[in-house]
Amino acid sequence: MKTDYEHIVLGLGGIGAGAVYWLARRAGSQVLGLEQFELGHGRGGSQDHSRIIRLSYHTPHYVEMAKNAYETWAALEEDAGTSLIVKTGGLDFTRPGAAIPISDYTESMDAAGVPYEWLDAAEIMRRWPQFRVGDEVSALYQEQSGIAPAIRCNAVHVRMARAYGATLRDGAAVTAIRDLDGEIEVLAGGTTYRCRKLVIAAGAWTNNLLFHFGRKLPLTITQEQVAYYGTPHAEEFMPDRFPIWIWMDVPCFYGFPVYGEPGPKVSQDVGGKEVTAETRTFDPDRNYQARLDAFVKQYIPRAYGPLITIKTCLYTMPPDRDFVLDTLPDHPNVAIVVGAAQGFKFASLLGRILSDLSIDGETNHNIEPFRVDRPILLKQDPPKNFMI
Ligand SMILES: Cc1cc2nc3c(=O)[nH]c(=O)nc-3n(C[C@H](O)[C@H](O)[C@H](O)COP(=O)(O)OP(=O)(O)OC[C@H]3O[C@@H](n4cnc5c(N)ncnc54)[C@H](O)[C@@H]3O)c2cc1C
Repeated sequence: MKTDYEHIVLGLGGIGAGAVYWLARRAGSQVLGLEQFELGHGRGGSQDHSRIIRLSYHTPHYVEMAKNAYETWAALEEDAGTSLIVKTGGLDFTRPGAAIPISDYTESMDAAGVPYEWLDAAEIMRRWPQFRVGDEVSALYQEQSGIAPAIRCNAVHVRMARAYGATLRDGAAVTAIRDLDGEIEVLAGGTTYRCRKLVIAAGAWTNNLLFHFGRKLPLTITQEQVAYYGTPHAEEFMPDRFPIWIWMDVPCFYGFPVYGEPGPKVSQDVGGKEVTAETRTFDPDRNYQARLDAFVKQYIPRAYGPLITIKTCLYTMPPDRDFVLDTLPDHPNVAIVVGAAQGFKFASLLGRILSDLSIDGETNHNIEPFRVDRPILLKQDPPKNFMI
């Protein structure tokens, strides 16, 4: 069995799958991907039918990155000969005194030249009578928002990585890593591998792997849940009749049209309890669910119905909820990424940037804000701001 590679990607969730694909496009069979569970497992942060993709972001830099994310998904779609991204349009709801300043979004899109519309409550309900909102509510509408179909995107990244010659091993938990001056030794599933360049894309398990480099990041992991509602009016919530939406306040709720399950999906951003990758459960939280039910009954009453399913999932967030995307200062042959619980829409782009860092040692993309040794990540007890 081949055990010597130029590149090893550790963790084949959404971002790791993107990284092996973009690495394999340039380094083919010199790429190995290692995953502790089975490919497509549901224990991390990347396994569900849908994730929101949008250009409406809170800084011009993220808006530009989001543009690049769309281009990168388009490059994958063309290469794989399949379509992935589903554009539904997207609504960002706000009201006077909302905790998330919508002006950050409008100013950032203005700065990046991204068009959007401002809609008042009457216009929102004229276009989407499924919503019931008071006169004080308004929304910005951006037509390119939509769905990144996570399960399908991961499968296409994996299929194409293999097509370029990469080797992907699942059921291969990495239990030890040693940097031997330019050559890295990785013990996984009882086999010792060697490589020149390593990518760590381990999500909620990141600190378990950084331990081998004497490092630890102040990451917060929460157990989130999403609910699919078995409404009798499902036809009203199909992707051509209902947008993705985000309620830009605290608590912050968001949702999707019918996609992957026979009913619309709703969840809360950062609504879950803090856990670790080891202590998390797969049991839905009753209070969390009660919050979702109350929101749906009040603002999208025709979406309500018996629950089809509830899925739990892990958020992994640095204190500023910005990505970690960098090489380790004392191990420049090791690249690392943390998706900050907003990373799926960027999964292929982040994978591409990681391949740049691994192969070229640099990238054209501005990753300065995502440094692994930025001040807030070096603090013992950093202030946390997860609401973006
Ligand atoms: C409920 C929910 C809703 C979300 N909604 C959105 C959204 O709408 N839009 C958006 O852009 N983002 C969204 N996100 C965030 C996004 O899904 C994540 O940021 C992204 O999927 C994280 O991907 P990842 O590859 O870093 O992590 P993961 O998918 O968790 O992958 C990490 C992988 O590393 C593997 N691994 C860990 N340790 C080892 C080891 N020792 N050996 C081998 N393998 C190992 C794990 O098994 C896992 O497969 C959401 C997340 C959740 C949970």
